[in-house]
Amino acid sequence: MRSGLIPDRLSEDDGLISAIVPDVSVVVPVRDEVESLPLLLEAIASTLTASQLSYEIICVDDGSSDGSAEFLKEQAQIRPDLKAVILRRNYGQTAAMAAGFKYAIGKAIITLDADLQNDPADIPMLLAKLEEGYDLVSGWRQNRQDGALNRLLPSKIANWLIRRTTSVYIHDYGCSLKAYRAELVADMNLYGELHRFLPALAYIEGARITELPVRHHARRFGQSKYGISRTFRVLMDLLTILFMKKFLTRPMHVFGLLGLVSMILGTGLGIYLTIIKLAFGEIIGNRPLLILAVLLLVTGVQLFSFGLLAELVMRTYHESQGRPIYRVREVVAKKVN
Ligand code: UDP
Ligand code: MG
Repeated sequence: MRSGLIPDRLSEDDGLISAIVPDVSVVVPVRDEVESLPLLLEAIASTLTASQLSYEIICVDDGSSDGSAEFLKEQAQIRPDLKAVILRRNYGQTAAMAAGFKYAIGKAIITLDADLQNDPADIPMLLAKLEEGYDLVSGWRQNRQDGALNRLLPSKIANWLIRRTTSVYIHDYGCSLKAYRAELVADMNLYGELHRFLPALAYIEGARITELPVRHHARRFGQSKYGISRTFRVLMDLLTILFMKKFLTRPMHVFGLLGLVSMILGTGLGIYLTIIKLAFGEIIGNRPLLILAVLLLVTGVQLFSFGLLAELVMRTYHESQGRPIYRVREVVAKKVN
């Protein structure tokens, strides 16, 4: 892997640094996949060695009970290319991936499933695409080998919804096989089932995103950890993402505007009712319009104050975490000698 993925402060000819920082970190969330692991480790190692890439494999055990953790610990003692991160209990795939990101030190990061459904042989192709100047390359399981009704259909709907709402136009958000530039991953915070929204989160962070068709195999061992219930959680996360994308830095633009419109309508109705009472002596106490006017006014004030509060919360969010409201791709300046 050449200069493209090397952060500015590291020099490419610095032998020491390139010995420590591998070209790629492969992050694998693992829950009860003990039969697949030996094959998986071998497949990753042989592909990356053949492509002459330096690499590390970070397997995150997410509370397995089938001996996966013990196997990984034992292998990590023998294999210099493997880091085993063992979580205390089961936290879910997203948390396991986040843990893997934390321990990954490579210039590029690959994520893939432990169950051999993704094919490690696709890794070099994704990395090559990353080199063309993308920050995220997402796999697209064109030939997906999962059950039609319980998996493919919900996934089709979810993909359509995510595509419509996040303005990241890729086909397959759920594919775990993805390649990231390391700096991008460092900027993203993961929660919930958000790993399938990583492209959308990356888009919020200003990343250049593309996709590549990848192979997909049927599960060989064990069972899928998910059922139809995942669809609901994905939908809730979609709402969060939508909110983050639109309002993260300017909640007052939304709530303030809504509040203002509501207050103006309420005031207008109030004035109208006052006029017909005072000037024409009509009784307004029994008019539904009066209730509407009051409701609009109260709602308006509430939305407005909610917007102000949201501004405060957002400021705290950005400032307490040292998260600026922008992301710099690069800085160019002429060197003065
Ligand atoms: N996984 C995990 N924690 C969980 C559930 C799943 O780390 O709570 C891992 C699992 O071991 C696999 C990947 O996440 O490597 C994807 O899971 P699975 O194959 O069950 O999902 P599917 O491919 O059916 O969508
Ligand atoms: Mg799977």
